[in-house]
Amino acid sequence: VCGSTERSPFVERETFTFVRCSCDLVYKSRDQVPSSQQPPALWNERYTKRRRHRVAKSRRQILDLLNHVAPGPLLDVGCSLGYTMEAAKQLGLDAHGIDVNPDVLEMCRERGFDVEFGDVEGPYPFENDTFRMVIMKHVLEHTPDPRSAIREARRVLAPGGGLFVALPNLDFYRAARSPETHHFFNTGGNQHFVYYATRHLSRLLEQEGLQLARVHPHLWQRHATPLEKLASAALLPLRAVVSATRTRLDLRPEFWLMATQPEATLQR
Ligand SMILES: [Zn+2]
Repeated sequence: VCGSTERSPFVERETFTFVRCSCDLVYKSRDQVPSSQQPPALWNERYTKRRRHRVAKSRRQILDLLNHVAPGPLLDVGCSLGYTMEAAKQLGLDAHGIDVNPDVLEMCRERGFDVEFGDVEGPYPFENDTFRMVIMKHVLEHTPDPRSAIREARRVLAPGGGLFVALPNLDFYRAARSPETHHFFNTGGNQHFVYYATRHLSRLLEQEGLQLARVHPHLWQRHATPLEKLASAALLPLRAVVSATRTRLDLRPEFWLMATQPEATLQR
């Protein structure tokens, strides 16, 4: 992202090593990257549990993105069991998903979701400018080539569309304080190639021509229901304090980031 090749050892394990760039980005050595994309570990009960919670969270994330873009067709990259597509359908949106795992694709189809095989790095099986929203939740850390993924997202995003990204937060205080023992660099480290802080991702997105719209959740969602708005309004002062504190003290294990596709695109 920063263009530097300087790096220092960060965390060493038997099966992988993470290094730290001079810009603080943490990534796996390139020689430890498998030659072809392996499907992630088969989905298990961890993914089917708390379905309601996951759908509700996806709904909040889509509503956050709708603060920046007009409603329209949505693509969930790495759609897993379809929580985001379910939330999108509840909001009346045309929802599509791609994933590399044949098992989850089959389960999604059984649930009536519109899904295709597709890798996060691309190519995505869609024409240019197809979507108003592209969602990438916990997928960019799984690829050694995030730039390809961002370019592909941008290709299928219509002008004025928006990208929503959620990622493990490299700045999370526990991971920063003791990386040797933290999940990010143990079990998580097996499947993850890159750990970003918000500054790294926003830089990457801007390099690829997207405009940073928002880091972290919104306190107010324009397209929420009247009841949701009432609840938000009542809790607004409290939520503002909690949110600012979580950001300032690096209490967020994951971060959300939204960016938009410029309306007038001169060149892709
Ligand atoms: Zn760097």
